[in-house]
Amino acid sequence: MNWDSILNAYPAQTEAILGIKALHELTERVLSNVAIPELEAPLKGMDDFSAFIPILAPVCSAVWKETAGADPAFDIAEVLASFITGQDPPTVPEADRELTGAVINSIVSRFLHMLREKNLRLVPEALYEGDCPFCGSFAKIGFDAEDERTLACLSCGHTWRFPRLRCPACSNTDHATLGYFDAEGIEGVRVYFCKVCRHYFKVIDTRVRTVTDPETEDALTLELDDLAGKEGFSLPS
Ligand SMILES: [Zn+2]
Ligand SMILES: [Zn+2]
Repeated sequence: MNWDSILNAYPAQTEAILGIKALHELTERVLSNVAIPELEAPLKGMDDFSAFIPILAPVCSAVWKETAGADPAFDIAEVLASFITGQDPPTVPEADRELTGAVINSIVSRFLHMLREKNLRLVPEALYEGDCPFCGSFAKIGFDAEDERTLACLSCGHTWRFPRLRCPACSNTDHATLGYFDAEGIEGVRVYFCKVCRHYFKVIDTRVRTVTDPETEDALTLELDDLAGKEGFSLPS
């Protein structure tokens, strides 16, 4: 993440952004002591990921404790498990919900990045799908260069080549139902949408815009996600 450019883009939210930055740094520090497992196959989505709940639960407790200054007054391992499996979460005190979500998001994301780096040999090089070939998350952002488009997974950091005239959500290739729009004041970024499945993704034109990294570019272009939502397009769930 390029924190300086994010702070520049959202000056009114300086305090919140610095809080997230500190949380990410703490997450990295705690996770650096965790042995990252070698996998036998790429993950097939979050179901496979639930095998790592025993590794991540103590990390969640440690990061929570250092951030909040006390042990959580609820079972954070259960909250983590519900986040990963999609089951109903246990009750978390209202005042603790925001921090709990931020802690779990930060840890799961960083761990997925480390897991991918450790298991790169398993990741197929090309794929004609918008779901990440390593972790199965939908790529909501892509990058156009002179002669190729790549998609980037914000969950684990993997990038892969992808055809320009194709919907990553439903594989539609009919140009009559594929389109894009951009927003005034945001140079070099477009929302590409598909009228068949009503999904969208954002594409950064690297010939026009100086690019930092996918997570930063996503954070700097949230206005386009709002616009896509107003136009009736969503990300695949
Ligand atoms: Zn991924
Ligand atoms: Zn589609």
